[in-house]
Amino acid sequence: AAQAHSTPFLVQLQQKYAHQETFLQAVQEMYLSLEPLFNHPDEVLRDKYIKAFQMLTEPERTISFRVPWEDDNGVLHINRGYRVEFSSALGPYKGGLRFHPSVDEGILKFLGFEQIFKNALLQKSGLQLGGGKGGSDFDPKNKSDAEVKRFCQSFMTELHRHISPNIDVPAGDINVGGREIGYLFGQYKRLTNMHGDFGVLTGKSLTIGGSHIRKEATGYGLVYIAKLAIEDKLKQRDAFKGKRCAVSGSGNVSQYACEKLLDFGAKVVSVSDSNGVLHFENGMSKDDWEVIVKAKQRDRLRLSEIEGLVSGKYIAGKSPWSCEQMTNYDFAFPCATQNEIDEESIQKMIGSGLRGVFEGANLPTTEKAQEILRRHTNIIYIPGKAANAGGVGCSGLEMSQNSQKLGWNPNVVDEKLKDLMAEIYQQLIDTAGPDGSLEVGANQAGFLKVVDAMDELGWL
Ligand code: GLU
Repeated sequence: AAQAHSTPFLVQLQQKYAHQETFLQAVQEMYLSLEPLFNHPDEVLRDKYIKAFQMLTEPERTISFRVPWEDDNGVLHINRGYRVEFSSALGPYKGGLRFHPSVDEGILKFLGFEQIFKNALLQKSGLQLGGGKGGSDFDPKNKSDAEVKRFCQSFMTELHRHISPNIDVPAGDINVGGREIGYLFGQYKRLTNMHGDFGVLTGKSLTIGGSHIRKEATGYGLVYIAKLAIEDKLKQRDAFKGKRCAVSGSGNVSQYACEKLLDFGAKVVSVSDSNGVLHFENGMSKDDWEVIVKAKQRDRLRLSEIEGLVSGKYIAGKSPWSCEQMTNYDFAFPCATQNEIDEESIQKMIGSGLRGVFEGANLPTTEKAQEILRRHTNIIYIPGKAANAGGVGCSGLEMSQNSQKLGWNPNVVDEKLKDLMAEIYQQLIDTAGPDGSLEVGANQAGFLKVVDAMDELGWL
């Protein structure tokens, strides 16, 4: 450790992971927040923190496997499947599965690394979860239901030997929702005969052992923590009343963030997908919201296909952050994917009066855009690993219900979700940097939890 300190170990990490850009980005973001710990005046503590970071940038185990499946014409396709079991210091590996052509080992390492510290923020509430992530480069776009099912079954044919409620508990992420979790769980049951192993996957639908509010939890939790922060930092009683809120994405996180924002009286001015943005100059109505949710969940449509059914205007090829027609909004809720807000976008957003960024997606803000946000300490910024932790938090609640073999009613789960987000916000405040940075608060609070666990376990 002493040696690592004399040769700045960030440089070592930069060389080691030069080929995994997004992973390196996530590591560097953590490093910046943790730097004061790595220069701690107490030598014993300093060495401990450095040692911990070196351990935590290397996954405990990475599983990589072949996933063969046949399309509806009987043609064989081969995809790559992965599960990165990153850290078990706090409990079983926990984190979602992502199916997207951009998925490779580096992307999953970035997501798994984030997940360790996100999950650590739930420990104070009694949820003991390690960090992991998995998925495949399979592209579900334009695939039939039968093709998605065959893919999921083949994926689980390999994955089942690595997971169990006490070892590794996957859930959903981009393109993996209730339908996919159902097919995955079906195949797990068929292969293992463990029909009571409900806690092996979370994000299940209610009839097969899922929890109320899990589907809504990431979006709801995001809005709950944003509300706490706005009321606290901006000293406003009714955080969202009449406030213009831009939301990106139109998947699970975005849909339920929009619903909760509407409930709280906000003007939701956008949703988007990878092809364009639906812009609601006067705010989305509850009817608009219902049309969007039905179109996405039931009919699996793109936003361009529902223009005309809603009051918004579709703008092709743009995101809420890059679109010239959308100039002023108070709060931004990026809920699409990594690196969706760049330097240019954030400048424009700040220039037109932005007051807060709350990340529903994982790492949606580029390194340069984050740098700019750090200089604007008057803008509330809650990074994904705290802001979107309600999803995995509710997964933890699903595991608790599964292990007790009972289910709580929706109000009970929703109240527990609110408590989880309040406990996270408190940790951010308690650990915030000298300028009140909630980013530093999130990163340090999560990290310190994992360090203590590793230390007590004997650095295995
Ligand atoms: N994929 C979600 C995340 O990024 C949820 C993971 C889970 O529920 O395990 O946190």
